[in-house]
Amino acid sequence: MDLDRHDFEVADLVERLKADDTRLVALQIPEGLKIQALELMDKIEEGCSAQVILAADPCYGACDLVHHKMKMMGVEMVAHMGHSQMNIDSGMPTHFIPVTYEGEPELLPLLPILTQHHEAGEQRLGSESVSTDMSAEDAQDRFLDAVGRVSPLIDNKLGLVGSIQHLHLLPAYKEKLEAAGFDVVIPTGGERLSFPGQVLGCNYSGDDDRIGHYLFLGSGDFHPIGLVLHTGKPLAILDPYTTEAREISLEHIERILRQRFGLITVSQEAQSFGILIGEKPGQMRRSLAMRMKRLLEKHGKKGYLLALEHVGPELIDFYPVDAFVNTACPRIAIDDSVKYDKPLITPYELEVALGEKKWEQGYQFDEIP
Ligand code: SF4
Repeated sequence: MDLDRHDFEVADLVERLKADDTRLVALQIPEGLKIQALELMDKIEEGCSAQVILAADPCYGACDLVHHKMKMMGVEMVAHMGHSQMNIDSGMPTHFIPVTYEGEPELLPLLPILTQHHEAGEQRLGSESVSTDMSAEDAQDRFLDAVGRVSPLIDNKLGLVGSIQHLHLLPAYKEKLEAAGFDVVIPTGGERLSFPGQVLGCNYSGDDDRIGHYLFLGSGDFHPIGLVLHTGKPLAILDPYTTEAREISLEHIERILRQRFGLITVSQEAQSFGILIGEKPGQMRRSLAMRMKRLLEKHGKKGYLLALEHVGPELIDFYPVDAFVNTACPRIAIDDSVKYDKPLITPYELEVALGEKKWEQGYQFDEIP
């Protein structure tokens, strides 16, 4: 990753600090960009009279606002870099900086993948919804089928999405893709998202039944895995950091579904559960956690509410319960469950384990709206 090609918009931040006569500002930076934190602190302190505190704890999203703690330290404003504002009350002045990356790789290597995905979408156009009247075995097969659960498409557009660093490139890529013959839409999601085309690891609300397949502009598998688990639609990836063009295979998604299937099946036998509540403002789903506790009681099982800021095996594995249900960041259960000694499942998966939701309804991604 070429860090010099990121735009941290420091000049705008310095202007705001000067205008507000801010004396103490906190900087919150995602893990991948922290290597540049000290350099940024120098630039800010050289540009104005504000002192800068780095909020050095791990930060993975705008769900993780440190405002309460920073307020206690006398901080007047938080500059939050690399994420966009969510539908949560930050409680103090906040300057969100998306941190864009200049890197516009060639589309050409991607076109054969997109063409294949388009053809797969064509086959789904107008197909019927799968019947819910089926045997237990067929219902479980349907759960494990990454694609079969998706409702029929009414169109076969290419959904163009990205992570926040690359969203400014979407209009230019839309034009290029249209010139290559694709019918492209940049989907607009719900309140948790700030920009058209934006996706988060916990929110893909821009998806709709006009979109037959996706192109994700960004790096890593984190957002793509969530999007395919959520939609069952083919997804191609163009990575502006490495210029690599590739796809997420449905075999990969089906492997994850098999793992979820196994954890749900084991959890059916569990009698006691730890119910995790995230303390981070954008992950806190207390009502959902309470509903899970009531649901467990309805089925004669026990649920203990455990509130944590960070979730990790060393912080929960020792509790004498049979399994955990996670209402904090949805990706903790999906991406990290192998690290835990006991089953760690999502609220939806608990509902399947308790028989409240049916296997044949297909896998439902745990989205935070
Ligand atoms: S809840 Fe998880 S996936 Fe969503 S923004 Fe926060 S860290 Fe990312």
